[in-house]
Amino acid sequence: MYTANNAGARASTRSSSRSSAPVRLPSDRRRPGNTGGQLRGAGRALRNKKFIHPSKFIKTATVTEKSEYVSVNTFSDFSLDSRILANVLAKGYNNPSPIQDKTIPIVMQGRDLIGIANTGTGKTAAFALPLIHDLIHAMDHHAIIMAPTRELAQQIQEECLAFSKNCGLRTALLIGGASMNMQIRDLRRNPRLVIGTPGRIKDHLQQRTLSLSGITTAVLDEFDRMLDMGFIRDITSIFSAMPTNRQTLFFSATMEGEIEKHVRSFSHDAVTVSVRENVTVDSVNQDVVYYRAREEKIDKLHDLLIAKNRGKTIIFDDTKHSVERLCKALVSRGFKADRIHGNKSQAQRTRAIKRLKENEIDILVATDVAARGIDVADISHVINYSQPNTYEDYVHRIGRTGRAGNTGNAYTFLEKE
Ligand code: AMP
Repeated sequence: MYTANNAGARASTRSSSRSSAPVRLPSDRRRPGNTGGQLRGAGRALRNKKFIHPSKFIKTATVTEKSEYVSVNTFSDFSLDSRILANVLAKGYNNPSPIQDKTIPIVMQGRDLIGIANTGTGKTAAFALPLIHDLIHAMDHHAIIMAPTRELAQQIQEECLAFSKNCGLRTALLIGGASMNMQIRDLRRNPRLVIGTPGRIKDHLQQRTLSLSGITTAVLDEFDRMLDMGFIRDITSIFSAMPTNRQTLFFSATMEGEIEKHVRSFSHDAVTVSVRENVTVDSVNQDVVYYRAREEKIDKLHDLLIAKNRGKTIIFDDTKHSVERLCKALVSRGFKADRIHGNKSQAQRTRAIKRLKENEIDILVATDVAARGIDVADISHVINYSQPNTYEDYVHRIGRTGRAGNTGNAYTFLEKE
């Protein structure tokens, strides 16, 4: 177990061998306002927390040689338009991932579907490829893709643009934090594919700047997250503006709770395909860091951040304010950090993620909601500076590391009684 006592010892040997990392100086230790402990406004966040036994945060990654997935199909077997096929190959995709292999033939048949898959499994292409194929062959077809966060919606649009290069497909991105007028301008150009978050899509429907009466396919990505975030009323009203004889595709990390009930009410005879992997067991070393007093907490974090093996890191904290303060404290200690949370504009969030991707910073401090959908391949550490609300949230958080055959590291801060 990674305890308060050995944390300092390990870090001090590591810091001496890495000259570029900020070394913890005595003057950093008790700077007022830089404690990074529980902050005002965190009360509501704390009330939402369910008890998770500390033992669930500790596990050694099992370094099993993963047998390469042998796909049943090749991309050429899917009868996709040759331009789409060329774009897929240009992106460097040689073979379909399991979710693509299993779902693309079903979606191509026009069936409704619920795909149970974690982030990072290639689910975007699983729905985007057959969808784009349909749109460029049936000129009267229209589609909508909904995602829980702006970042995810933006990433989906980028992928769709890459897959539909040279196909003349017009798209519009409808997300909060961006100019309504620009979106209205894009909608006037009659895009055949609209991608967005439920709140902004509903705003456009209410303002009658968007009509969904011609929708032939609707996709809901990370449906479980959308429900967690309280989008069900918006989604229900968006569905009521669409024809019922559409194709509907859901993607979700789980089928728990109310999910199945909603899926059934919004779809017809949906096929279920599951390729869920247990990200926590396989590829992430998980441990806890105990701290005794609030003032000690940020020093423990500092120790972790100067460890030799640390690469890009996402640190989760509870509230917009605590994220803001923690990021400031880290920057003042010499770390290259930025932050994303709900008070940041879309442009600021996009810039922070770009800075992380392009190695300008190596620490991103984030709230759960803002971090959803971030696709940065080489995250070495996820640090839960505050405990996640549920074990499900924990799985989502630590799933940001240990991707693409790498072993990741996850640390969860716990207060010692
Ligand atoms: P997603 O789950 O759609 O966010 O995809 C996760 C990552 O895997 C993205 O960086 C994709 O570009 C990449 N990816 C998706 N499908 C494939 C594939 N068949 N071959 C290689 N990379 C892929």
